Formats: sequence, structure tokens, C-alpha cells
Amino acid sequence: PQPDLDLASLVRTIPDFPKRGIQFRDITTLIGDAAGFAECVRRLSALASAHRPDFIVAVEARGFLFGAAMATAMGLGLVPVRKAGKLPGVTIGVDYQLEYGVDRLELHEGAVLPGHRVVLVDDLLATGGTILATAELMRNVGAEVAAALFVIDLPDLGGSERLSAVGLHCETLIA
Ligand code: IMP
Repeated sequence: PQPDLDLASLVRTIPDFPKRGIQFRDITTLIGDAAGFAECVRRLSALASAHRPDFIVAVEARGFLFGAAMATAMGLGLVPVRKAGKLPGVTIGVDYQLEYGVDRLELHEGAVLPGHRVVLVDDLLATGGTILATAELMRNVGAEVAAALFVIDLPDLGGSERLSAVGLHCETLIA
């Protein structure tokens, strides 16, 4: 463990991606650094363990990178939440609003059951729309969301306020 390792210094900011004016936080440099990735997964797993989840639920696509590593480290199964049309079995979906238009997230029916306690994981919290839609999916199948964990929070975009307004507990490694 390297509790003093500065994870923020391993994240790059790329201007004007995917559109002009957007400052994209790029985690490929973080996961490409062996010590950085390991420390990141250790910290996320420690936060998740405190909630005693039955499953780690990870959001496509960068959430899979962290969620998969956490799940194996914690001895838990991983449940993927994917964009519409990617999961092969019977799915349960939820539509959510984007800046322009709407998107849909899906979960395999039966992957999480009523009464299961889950921790949600994604790489980054911006407006909170993606994780709120994921939490709604969990609610719709009767699972309890103990917490939502992120590597990065962009506090100026108001995501953490939107989450706390609906009582969704969130924790972040880098703000
Ligand atoms: P939100 O729904 O507005 O909170 O946006 C969060 C989602 O968009 C997450 O699934 C992120 O992976 C993705 N995202 C938004 N901005 C960035 C960024 O700067 N870097 C990496 N992912 C981002």
C-alpha cells in the first residue's frame, strides 16, 4: 500500500475532447501506472468493503476497469450495467436524459435480486445523470444501493449535490 501516492498526478486532462470546450479527464495514464492502478483499486475496495456489499455494480465502460479489479480483490461478483442493446439476455432498462437527447442503461434480469446490497462504481462523477439512472435500475429490481464510488469527482458539475439530494451516498478518490 502507498497511502501517500498522489493519484491526481496520474490523471491527464485533454482539452477539446470529445468536443470543443470539454476538458476530458483521461484515466488511461492512471491505469497504465502499475503502482497507481493498484493503489486506486486498494482505496476503492477499502471504501466499498465498509459497506459490506453482496455485489459490485459497474457502469460501462470505464467503470468496468475499476469495478472488475475491485470485485476480484474483494472476492465478490461483478454486475455490469451497459448501454442499450449490448447485454445478450433478458434485460431491465432505464432511460435517462442527456444534455441533448436521451440514453438507456440496461441490466440483466436476475443479476441482482430484491434485498441485495450493492456498491456502484464508475470512473468519474460529472452531472450525476449516469449514476442516478444506475441507482434507479437497482431500486426497480429491489436492490439496496449502499454507496456510489468514483475515482474522480468534477464538483463544478453538481453531481454530488444531486446524489445527496436523493440520499445516495457517494465517495470519491480525487476531487
Ligand atoms: P454524468 O452522467 O454527467 O455524471 O457523467 C459521468 C459519465 O460520463 C461517466 O460514465 C464517465 O465515464 C463519463 N465522463 C464524463 N466526463 C468524463 C471525463 O472527463 N473523463 C472520463 N469520463 C467522463
